[in-house]
Amino acid sequence: MDLSNPPMVDLLILGAGAAGMMAAIACGETALQLNQPRPRITVLEKNRQPGIKVLVCGGGRCNLTNAGDLDFLIAAFGRNGRFLAPSLRHFDNTRLRDWFATRGVPTHAEHDGKIYPDSNQARSVVKALTDRMEELGVVSRAGAAYAATAAAWRADRGLFEVVSANGAVHLARFLLISVGGQSYTRMGTTGDGYRLAAALGHRIVPPRPAIVPLVCQEPWIPDLQGLAVPDVEVRIETAAPLPRLATGKPTPSVNDLLFTHFGLSGPAVLNLSEIVAELLEKMSPVSLRVDFVRCRGPAELHALFRAWHDHEGRKRVKTLVGGIVPQRLAETLCRLAGIGPEHTCAGFTARQMHQLVEWLKGCRFHVYQTRGFKEAMVTAGGVRLDEVNPETLQSRVNLQLYFAGEILDLTGPSGGYNLQMAFSTGRLAGWSIARRIAA
Ligand SMILES: Cc1cc2nc3c(=O)[nH]c(=O)nc-3n(C[C@H](O)[C@H](O)[C@H](O)COP(=O)(O)OP(=O)(O)OC[C@H]3O[C@@H](n4cnc5c(N)ncnc54)[C@H](O)[C@@H]3O)c2cc1C
Repeated sequence: MDLSNPPMVDLLILGAGAAGMMAAIACGETALQLNQPRPRITVLEKNRQPGIKVLVCGGGRCNLTNAGDLDFLIAAFGRNGRFLAPSLRHFDNTRLRDWFATRGVPTHAEHDGKIYPDSNQARSVVKALTDRMEELGVVSRAGAAYAATAAAWRADRGLFEVVSANGAVHLARFLLISVGGQSYTRMGTTGDGYRLAAALGHRIVPPRPAIVPLVCQEPWIPDLQGLAVPDVEVRIETAAPLPRLATGKPTPSVNDLLFTHFGLSGPAVLNLSEIVAELLEKMSPVSLRVDFVRCRGPAELHALFRAWHDHEGRKRVKTLVGGIVPQRLAETLCRLAGIGPEHTCAGFTARQMHQLVEWLKGCRFHVYQTRGFKEAMVTAGGVRLDEVNPETLQSRVNLQLYFAGEILDLTGPSGGYNLQMAFSTGRLAGWSIARRIAA
């Protein structure tokens, strides 16, 4: 590239993630539909190739959206969900699936509503996006040299000047910032967007880790490392009613839980972690109450234990408890309830039964920190939504500037919501910019 003679483009996109790539495609496709000349679009990406984060999504399978209806998807984003309504109406999960199907990537929904490509390969999703960008003549510049380091609005010339790490200056009529958040930093997302947006006059809701494992105090947790417990209910417990939270997200959370060497993970915990992170700023530790057998009430469990006592006297308590929760967990909870490994049902006392019901239905964990941005799958906080028009994704501070994806103050739970958000906001932003270019 000739550094002394910077090229001028119609649209410069910072970040070739889900949102940036979809925005470039939407801009190109909309111009085609409007019979307009091909817009000059350049995407700057700091990783060596576009879509690196999409490649790790869903453990490499890419859970690209969720089967829920519009209201369900909006509710998943808590108090800020309403902002998403125009983006989702413009490009909802059906349109997203149709778009990928026409690009040779059919998808399927699984029992839990998560939607994956039939190939079960995130690579196929990224390839569909990069192939389409190429067909539409989008110029993609990827590599550390192309990390955007500074952005400024030149009012006298009515254009943006963006400087990349190699010192090159990029000039553009419209700028879309879609560089993601600051979580999973090894994927290139290091919070650059907040600095760039602030330099262009935007305020940032302080970022905090979300969908992040939690570090707990209980010394017995490492014994259960690697154990997954299906269908548990996790509730945040506070002495007073839960303080008003910025997230406005529902609790408790019902899903699978995973024990790790430091604490808790798995969707049931990850989906509460944004709230826990917020509470940890006000109090520590935060107490979680876990119900490992949410489909059985305490009375039912007491009746079951009495039946074991009366009819299964020779059997060990821990063995029978292993029939209602995973065996390793059964052994730990029995020990915590004061029931020894050789203890038989004949000697199962009323007090032990009571203790065991407490551990099974109200096991407490004390969280004193999250695993931080390094392990958080998404970043909560970001560009303030009241400074962005939800109908177009246009900045209210600078009308040539747009935002899409995780850089916005929008965070969904795990389950395909965040990629849908990135694709929908990217699509609407690209469509809006194409219409401005054509005007
Ligand atoms: C391990 C993991 C698994 C996940 N699995 C799922 C899942 O299955 N389903 C789901 O819905 N969500 C999942 N997510 C979340 C999802 O990946 C993000 O919400 C989504 O990728 C956000 O899209 P985006 O385009 O806004 O940002 P990103 O995809 O993060 O893309 C931003 C891009 O901008 C680039 N960039 C950053 N700074 C600069 C700069 N200064 N200059 C140029 N480029 C820059 C980055 O390198 C990156 O490529 C997962 C996240 C992680 C970490």
